[in-house]
Amino acid sequence: MTKKKTARVIRMSQEDWLARAVELFGRDAADWAFVCPSCGQVQSVRDFERFAGEGATPDSASQECIGRYDGHARSEMLSGDRPCNYVAYGLFNVCPVTVVLPDGRESPRFGFAIPSKKPEKA
Ligand SMILES: [Zn+2]
Repeated sequence: MTKKKTARVIRMSQEDWLARAVELFGRDAADWAFVCPSCGQVQSVRDFERFAGEGATPDSASQECIGRYDGHARSEMLSGDRPCNYVAYGLFNVCPVTVVLPDGRESPRFGFAIPSKKPEKA
């Protein structure tokens, strides 16, 4: 068995993370988009608005695969199904980003998606 290279996790402060999001997608947080590290699903904060009644929050897009809300809840992580039921705060952390919160706690996050367009100048 070949030795698998461990993926690098980027650690950043919440302030830097928010600044990076604005830089990539603009000030409207609904446009911020992330990639599920388990299945590759690209999802924006806006995609979760329709699931607010089921407990989705603006943070869901960077921490929960939308499969948990859209009927794919049985699609296990790393099964190849997309979207899946992965969450960043679950048993397995495969997230590429760790955000260090102001109180020192660490919050694993999905990586940012590649923006489809340049954000409008704020
Ligand atoms: Zn997923």
